[in-house]
Amino acid sequence: MSTNETNYFGAHPYVEGYSESKIIEPEHIDRDSVKLQESYTRETVPRGAWVEVDLSAIEHNIRIVRKRVGLDRKIMAVVKADGYGHGAVHVAEAALRAGADYLAVSSVEEGVELREANIQAPILILSQPPMRAIPYVLAYDLMPTIFTQEFALALGEEADQNNMVAKYHLAIDTGMNRIGIFYLDAVDFIQSINFHRGLKLDGVFTHFATADDPSDWDFRMQLQRFNEALQLMRNARIDYGLAHSANSAATMRYPDSYFDMVRVGITMYGLTPGPVLRDKDDLIPAMSVKAQIIQVREPQMGEGVSYGFNYRVAKPVQIATVPIGYADGVQRALSGRMQVLYRGRPCRQVGNICMDQMMIEIPLDYSAEGVGSPAEIGEEIVILGSQGDYEITADMMADELDTISYELICMFGLRLPRIYV
Ligand SMILES: *Cc1c(COP(=O)(O)O)cnc(C)c1O
Repeated sequence: MSTNETNYFGAHPYVEGYSESKIIEPEHIDRDSVKLQESYTRETVPRGAWVEVDLSAIEHNIRIVRKRVGLDRKIMAVVKADGYGHGAVHVAEAALRAGADYLAVSSVEEGVELREANIQAPILILSQPPMRAIPYVLAYDLMPTIFTQEFALALGEEADQNNMVAKYHLAIDTGMNRIGIFYLDAVDFIQSINFHRGLKLDGVFTHFATADDPSDWDFRMQLQRFNEALQLMRNARIDYGLAHSANSAATMRYPDSYFDMVRVGITMYGLTPGPVLRDKDDLIPAMSVKAQIIQVREPQMGEGVSYGFNYRVAKPVQIATVPIGYADGVQRALSGRMQVLYRGRPCRQVGNICMDQMMIEIPLDYSAEGVGSPAEIGEEIVILGSQGDYEITADMMADELDTISYELICMFGLRLPRIYV
């Protein structure tokens, strides 16, 4: 065996001093001897890439919604999917500070997170949870959406056995065909469960499939069906609590859909629900995504960059690496098709976006301040947000990918640490 050979099943057999005892076991690391400022959380451990969330933007956007809907309507702040990637607890607190009345989440787990953070506002779960979640619904004072009798009665029973009354909202399907009781069956449904002393109907709602469409034809049909369902409930002397239907798009376009409460998600985050609504209001996007350069090189002409070499250096350039990739929400499909901001100006992203890194092409003469000064490790790159006179919006990325901004901001929330400013 030559000395260059390594043993596949262990270390190099001729490396001196290798032994089991040299492996540092976690319990031998004395964490107290290292000065850590705060205990470990995703928010406190530094990384070279991060999401910045401007909570004053969230407050500002809620106040814009308040101006639209007036003081007589409630505002439900939708913080599902970890606050569309912004951090549900921080967003919920900011929204409540700015005057939101209700919160909405998509699952029991998301509701529990808010309660564990000591948030007291009413919380609606936007769908009907599985039956086995009922004890959590009660213990954490969450309001489920209901659309089956089986769940309703089980919830009522469990509540009653604990001397509680469970509040719920009824989902009414007016045409989206996702969840809810068909609008003409709402009265029958409520009457079939309303006898239960463990249940209290706190609200009824429907959801629009096309509120962001240029045409309002289908929207009008759904709104008319919802009005009809409400009228039938009133005729049957049902106290249905809060009626609500408007998502962000309807809140921005159709005051006749407000009823007692509006449910705003994307607007609160400072983005618009679709092309029809762009530039509609003075919304401020709350999320930026930034990273710092970790390496700069000037490869020879013809050299390839990143997996697959589908970018090759064709003129003298600097290639800067930033520690953010598709596992952080920068969609790989944007490889070579996106720009970032550097020294206040746009730069091309080049080569395939990797899981944890991607590369930026910086022209050699590139400058804003110091003419032609070489790119440096630690310099900031803006992937989403503004720098100098330029801004890269989630809509620009979404358009390039044929998707909607909602999806992209959720993805940026999955792994990156968040900094609140
Ligand atoms: C997500 C959601 C909303 C919020 O939608 P936006 O377009 O983000 O305002 C409102 N209602 C329901 C039922 C939802 O699922």
